[in-house]
Amino acid sequence: MRRPMIAGNWKMNTDLASGTELAKGLASHVAGKDSSVDVLVCPPFPYLQAIKEAVGDSGISVGAQNCYFEESGAFTGEVSVDMLQDIGCDWVILGHSERRHVLGECDGTINKKTKAAIAKNLGVVLCVGELLEERESDKTGEVLDTQMKGGLADVSEADLSKIIIAYEPVWAIGTGKTASPEQADQAHAHLRNWLSSNYSQAAAEAMRILYGGSVKPSNAEELLGQPNVDGALVGGASLTVDNFGPIIDAG
Ligand code: 13P
Repeated sequence: MRRPMIAGNWKMNTDLASGTELAKGLASHVAGKDSSVDVLVCPPFPYLQAIKEAVGDSGISVGAQNCYFEESGAFTGEVSVDMLQDIGCDWVILGHSERRHVLGECDGTINKKTKAAIAKNLGVVLCVGELLEERESDKTGEVLDTQMKGGLADVSEADLSKIIIAYEPVWAIGTGKTASPEQADQAHAHLRNWLSSNYSQAAAEAMRILYGGSVKPSNAEELLGQPNVDGALVGGASLTVDNFGPIIDAG
């Protein structure tokens, strides 16, 4: 049985005061509930440490939205895996579509970052997903295969336990257009098949695959009810307790 994860990607939002308040609000929301769901919040770099303190011992994990693959040195503006772990991060989001399509990150770079993170036991939420034109020209499967192959190159089956896949169709991110539960489940099943063919059936069955793209309280339950959907990676709706709380509860 795969344990669901509900993850919030705050992107370049919040400030110190509002982020801290949100984290404290979420900690109160989960307090006293049975923790059958992993909860993760991924604030911007400058607030990671404050948010880590704010969630306290609530059981909510804190992750970064990116990292660099080198350990240290002359890499102006970059943040290493060690630095993230030093301030208590357990996870990093890699390969998010905004990094791929706005910041120009390619599968090769994402793969280097993935390997750097798992080498130090930092958990990776590896994002994959197709553009609208790719879906409309029936290339979704091909794009997902390329991103999986590229992102997971030279990653051993044993190391897959440190990775979660997030399927985020680019056309559904921040657009209000959600993949239908069937579309999400189909894409997740495709990813699981890829894992089965390229690793093993056991690896495919064990992998948690999150859905991301306009998840909100009103659609969370149905999406999370799909057999291949093991959680959600939430953008806009992760920025308030009123929205993210019910999504956690649906997990
Ligand atoms: P939205 O939930 O705002 O569509 O963003 C999804 C996302 O990109 C999460 O990483």
